[in-house]
Amino acid sequence: MIQRRSFLKTSAIVALGGLMPKPKQPHIVVVGAGAFGGWTALFLRRQGARVTLLDAWGPGNSRASSGGETRVIRATYGPRVVYTRMAARALTLWKEHERRWHRQLYHGIGVLWLVESDEQYEKSALPILRDAKVRFEELTGPDVARRFPQINCERVRWAIFENDGGYLTARRACAAVLEGFLAEGGEYRQLAVQPLAPRGGELSDLTLSDGSTLTADRFVFACGPWLGSLFPDVIGDRVRATRQEVFYFGTPPGDRRFTEDTMPVWADHGTTFMYGIPGNEWRGFKVADDTRGPVFDPTGGERAPIEARVCQYEESPDEHFIIDRHPAAANAWLVGGGSGHGFKHGPAVGELVARLVQTDTVPDEQFRLARFAR
Ligand SMILES: Cc1cc2nc3c(=O)[nH]c(=O)nc-3n(C[C@H](O)[C@H](O)[C@H](O)COP(=O)(O)OP(=O)(O)OC[C@H]3O[C@@H](n4cnc5c(N)ncnc54)[C@H](O)[C@@H]3O)c2cc1C
Repeated sequence: MIQRRSFLKTSAIVALGGLMPKPKQPHIVVVGAGAFGGWTALFLRRQGARVTLLDAWGPGNSRASSGGETRVIRATYGPRVVYTRMAARALTLWKEHERRWHRQLYHGIGVLWLVESDEQYEKSALPILRDAKVRFEELTGPDVARRFPQINCERVRWAIFENDGGYLTARRACAAVLEGFLAEGGEYRQLAVQPLAPRGGELSDLTLSDGSTLTADRFVFACGPWLGSLFPDVIGDRVRATRQEVFYFGTPPGDRRFTEDTMPVWADHGTTFMYGIPGNEWRGFKVADDTRGPVFDPTGGERAPIEARVCQYEESPDEHFIIDRHPAAANAWLVGGGSGHGFKHGPAVGELVARLVQTDTVPDEQFRLARFAR
């Protein structure tokens, strides 16, 4: 039997609880609705924060690094354990969100890593892939030639076939993330943030391109190739935009050998690192060179060719991502340096950044700005 005194005490607590104001949710502004910012905003919102997402031109716009049709998703990363694990986590999240949003963003047609002379990268990846439980097959050169007769395998010694690798539809995925974010109660505004230079303590507000001011408790800047121009002193050329060209080749009429029906994504890690995505959605056969191009202006740089596309990498000096607090504003986070491989990791990066921002945790050493000071 409940004692009267204890009953009264309990009811008083319940009544008080009912009257107590709910703890105020922090207001977090995320600048940049690309692969990094969009997913970060979504996960922050899901954790219960009030989130405003800003973008100058929109998610996956034609200037953004996340724009364009497709991006490769693969887990082979040579000796870089962190990205294999991140890619595996990201794949789980991509699949989960496809189901949640009832739309296809991931095409699991496999990724074929062709090994010619130098096999260091692929050899060092094998134990890491096994450890991360990534499904893959090791194929001999003749295996590859039999399985994919449309590929010239003269110089191919062996290959890794990542069964669950494939490609993601890039700008569509960015749009889907925005829609998901809005559906879960996020706010999006298409405005640019003016450059700022925090001087110490905390950042309190931003000036926007319409002349207004936006205040918030915390800020995340995921501005891709623009991160350096927004924070010239802290980032500067630690995120360098490099010009990258992508070509779409027409295939012979009616020929399905170079479309996703019969061909996987491929990466040829020979003297230069070339990769491609077979024809999909009636677009051509995509070929790109991973070699870093010259420095490029992401806002005004010339992108003229038709059915070839000029994009830019946001290259960090060591090709590791940058995920850290602004050194002069403890409540402002800088996220970028995707370095030509960031897109696939979007959901895993977003999940990680949302956790760091909400819990005020120190990020992993390899993502911090301090590494450049050494
Ligand atoms: C040609 C090419 C091929 C690639 N291939 C692959 C691949 O196969 N697989 C893979 O995983 N990755 C790949 N990448 C890399 C990947 O696409 C990028 O690392 C990733 O998309 C970067 O995302 P982000 O959110 O950091 O930047 P972005 O997508 O550039 O997003 C930044 C956003 O910030 C906004 N912004 C900037 N400044 C401001 C401001 N002041 N105010 C408001 N908004 C602002 C921009 O409008 C933009 O939308 C490739 C990149 C390129 C260019």
